[in-house]
Amino acid sequence: MALAFDEYGRPFIILREQESKSRLRGLDAQKSNIAAGVAVSRILRTSLGPKGMDKMLQSPDGDITITNDGATILEQMEVDNQIGKLMVELSRSQDYEIGDGTTGVVVMAGGLLEQAEKLLERGIHPIRVAEGFEISSKIAVDHLQQIADKFDFSATNIEPLVQTCMTTLSSKIVNRCKRRLAEIAVKAVMAVADLERKDVNLDLIKVEGKVGGKLEDTELIYGILVDKDMSHPQMPKEINDAKIAILTCPFEPPKPKTKHKVDIDTVEKFQTLRKQEQKYFDDMVQQCKDVGATLVICQWGFDDEANHLLMHRNLPAVRWVGGVELELIAIATGGRIVPRFQELTPEKLGKAGLVREKAFGTTKDRMLYIEHCANSRAVTIFIRGGNKMMIEETKRSIHDALCVARNLIRNNSIVYGGGAAEISCSIAVEAAADKYPGVEQYAIRAFADALDSVPMALAENSGLQPIETLSAVKAQQIKENNHCCGIDCNDTGTNDMREQNVFETLIGKQQQILLATQVVKMILKIDDVISPSEY
Ligand code: ADP
Ligand code: MG
Repeated sequence: MALAFDEYGRPFIILREQESKSRLRGLDAQKSNIAAGVAVSRILRTSLGPKGMDKMLQSPDGDITITNDGATILEQMEVDNQIGKLMVELSRSQDYEIGDGTTGVVVMAGGLLEQAEKLLERGIHPIRVAEGFEISSKIAVDHLQQIADKFDFSATNIEPLVQTCMTTLSSKIVNRCKRRLAEIAVKAVMAVADLERKDVNLDLIKVEGKVGGKLEDTELIYGILVDKDMSHPQMPKEINDAKIAILTCPFEPPKPKTKHKVDIDTVEKFQTLRKQEQKYFDDMVQQCKDVGATLVICQWGFDDEANHLLMHRNLPAVRWVGGVELELIAIATGGRIVPRFQELTPEKLGKAGLVREKAFGTTKDRMLYIEHCANSRAVTIFIRGGNKMMIEETKRSIHDALCVARNLIRNNSIVYGGGAAEISCSIAVEAAADKYPGVEQYAIRAFADALDSVPMALAENSGLQPIETLSAVKAQQIKENNHCCGIDCNDTGTNDMREQNVFETLIGKQQQILLATQVVKMILKIDDVISPSEY
């Protein structure tokens, strides 16, 4: 800090910015960044695979999350370090793009970073390392394409899809009934999928959960489930062949938007006002009845007067239904969302074969099932479970399974899991290294070693000797020329992943390799870290 004077003699202070900043340059910067990235990946390493551990995270306000999902763990951990944040971002990109493999991608990036550090220590320039990794990732991705298997499925034969979703679910808490959940996920995706365009709109699948019951009670509803009940307890609990008016206008007299005042000085005037108000309600109900509606679903509330009238006139109603749900109901029942009573017409009504209200447990919790809809392309997965944490984790697991099923509909290629694909790529990359005369070959060999980090973590988490197991499997792959050999995590006696039905999607695995390489290259290219120091 220095004091200076301008040309008029007024004093001012010069702050030297540089002094208040800490700075890391060159190799030091790279090493410290690598250490930070590796630290984050170590945390996730133990969560990988069917025998991976779960993490329990507590938020500042005391909420507890128990999860095995890489993206969720990193998101909730609130990583502070800049490089750590890159790893969080990495996991998130995998989640957005693919949905599954969020732990694996961070473990892979961690492996690459560890190898990169060794190369830097041997004096290889970071750019050379980055180039070598880039070449290797291309080799690995191409190799995956070659070893990928295609399988056929159709609306009637969904077994292959179910098997792949089961692999995804096998590493989650819901492992116990993965078969049932995988079937539910696949059926839900098939219900909303457009097989011709190979497209799936996951927004049409609603995932709801309610505490209580068993995980086995989780069900797929071909229709919409709304966490609301009939507005009046004496309204019917079941409506067959419902014609639904979907309204975004409230059941109440219109309110002028400008300032207004009503003067009432006699009983008669009050009576007329009341009559008028009643007439408003009456007209509204009449308009609904005129077009033939047998159920009203309303985005807004209505007061007791209107509620009583609706009950009296035999028009069941549901109030305070959220916007998203309203849209889904409109899609499912083939109805239109109507903003004004005047615009109601019979064609705008949604149709559902059965609308029923179901009560749960001893609480007053009730939910509304809208089923047998005109257009069944909107479904709901209704999760039951012992506690809130379980339901939240099941939601996340189902999300992974849904994404996997969607990816398979887009591209029906699979590779084998349990580290088999990574080991096969590692062998291919190692073999390719000899073709490169330059320094890159060191980086390419290192990349091959880094790919082993995933099977190694799988073996470690399953209580196996990591190095022994890995080298045995690798030798077997080379000897038998069989790219299906992986780590036998569940001790089933065979390490042929084709027999064990452990499949992963090809695009998921390719994306993992590409994303991990990208982030590592980015970290390697940083040679100057300027950060505000603590005061
Ligand atoms: P991610 O978040 O990356 O999907 P998971 O915890 O789901 O992490 O673990 C996925 C890894 O576990 C994959 O490499 C997959 O091949 C492997 N895996 C899953 N099920 C099995 C199994 N039954 N046997 C061996 N490996 C498995
Ligand atoms: Mg997974």
